[in-house]
Amino acid sequence: MSTETMVQQFPLFINGKWTPVESGETFDIINPATSEVSAKVSKASEKEVELAVQNARSTFESGVWSNKTPEERAQVLMQFSKKIIEHAQEIVYLEAISSGGTLRKLAGADIQQLVLCLQQTVKQALEYKYVETLPVVTALGPSRNQLIREPLGVVAAITPWNFPLVLAMWKIAPALMMGNSIIVKPASNTPLGTLKLAELAVEAGLPPGVFNVITGPGSTVGEALVTHKEVDKVAFTGSTEVGRSIMKQASGTVKKVTLELGGKAPAIVLPDADLEVTIPGILFGVFFHSGQVCESGTRLLVHDSIYEEVIAKLAEMTKKIKVGNPMDLATGMGPVVSKQQMDTILSYIESGISEGARLVCGGKRAAGPGLDQGYYIEPTIFADVQNDMKIAQEEIFGPVLSVIRYSTEEEAIRIANDTIYGLSAGIWSRDVVKANKLAAKIKAGTIWINDWHMFRMDAPFGGYKQSGVGRELGRNALDEYTEVKHVHTALTNENDQRAGLKLIF
Ligand code: NAP
Ligand code: MG
Repeated sequence: MSTETMVQQFPLFINGKWTPVESGETFDIINPATSEVSAKVSKASEKEVELAVQNARSTFESGVWSNKTPEERAQVLMQFSKKIIEHAQEIVYLEAISSGGTLRKLAGADIQQLVLCLQQTVKQALEYKYVETLPVVTALGPSRNQLIREPLGVVAAITPWNFPLVLAMWKIAPALMMGNSIIVKPASNTPLGTLKLAELAVEAGLPPGVFNVITGPGSTVGEALVTHKEVDKVAFTGSTEVGRSIMKQASGTVKKVTLELGGKAPAIVLPDADLEVTIPGILFGVFFHSGQVCESGTRLLVHDSIYEEVIAKLAEMTKKIKVGNPMDLATGMGPVVSKQQMDTILSYIESGISEGARLVCGGKRAAGPGLDQGYYIEPTIFADVQNDMKIAQEEIFGPVLSVIRYSTEEEAIRIANDTIYGLSAGIWSRDVVKANKLAAKIKAGTIWINDWHMFRMDAPFGGYKQSGVGRELGRNALDEYTEVKHVHTALTNENDQRAGLKLIF
């Protein structure tokens, strides 16, 4: 049997069932560890977008989910989280053969996050104020004034390939919990796990049509969702470039958008930093998941007094990161997601060299037994980087650290903020009082002090500046998936008590 016939094929998931595309067209999913075809997925067209939107819309209007109580929805979502645990092995497998994420990342972080995100969203939604009665004011005459939270309707989620399931769940959980219907358009490199999630949700008792997945090119399927008049909101994570285009396209129907875009996070090392903690922390901050994380600490600002020492120690410790097959538990860094991404990263490395940065370690494709067919890149460190170099200004989304020298705190803050991005930042210091003072001066949505990549499902995540619009996670996320309605009820039959009438009579 040829591999061609052995690979699994995935239709779309619409209205609670596997749905083939009319054209019969498919596209290949490539395993980044081997460059082999690992699955085939249906290529949707605008026809299927229409089908998915109509189903999501009629399901929403039917009230089968949107009219359920928060307690009833909570029960289904908790069941959904149990299904994820039961099927964790299959989910991890589907993610590994498409995203190249390591077993340690997928099993050790992603699965927990999916479950925690559902549990935490449920918890917060059960404490949420769906109806709030405002205090009485006399100016309007006797009245009762209520603020009522209602679901938006149909949400389209467009998701990236770096954390395909986690970043989808950040949208799915609040959208579903607040009563919306959702259509997810996963990244074309990594749609497999998301398709599986939709199936599990229906098995958990979610009514058909509430959670749909359509696969196909962002430029056609994505755009059709963003411009569709029956889609009420777009929740997007991905590049700033596509984020800009989504904002523009969504304006035609004045859709709500939340955007979680790129980053170029500064990590500031103060002279008093505890290097035993700081060195491994910096490397985890930038090389986790081969650097394919939007909030990675990619610009390292190191004080003059310890500059060469920090660089030497970083280079030394980088040798301890094992680059290899993602399915091997010894592997600390797997491949990058695609050949295209690998080529982009290598061209950024070239630009760093040609702009005069000093290559300290790495800088090329990783070689060795079993690596030749995959998209592996050595963990790479550049020193003597100037903040106006391309490698310091643009998001590389690969295992590349740019080290920049500074001499005063004011200079460090100025460099830290000299970027179009503002997703995250970090400070390494023994003096946490000072670190907190500096944190106040950095324009970024998340700041880590002596740590990195730490997420709480009850803390909002999102960007300042061109890193995004809105926040995911936490209570804010629930607001982002609702409309608020103000209902004013006059509590009098006496016309002389009504504030408005005397304006014209
Ligand atoms: P991307 O183009 O922004 O893709 C993200 C999602 O948007 C995918 O589902 C994509 O679908 C879809 N999309 C693409 N063009 C679209 C359009 N015109 N309208 C609507 N949806 C559209 O990201 P990428 O090309 O995969 O990666 C490029 C760079 O983006 C990376 O190198 C990195 O710098 C950044 N990135 C950031 C994050 C993050 O977490 N903030 C995540 C991933 C990538 P297709 O997959 O079908 O194109
Ligand atoms: Mg793209």
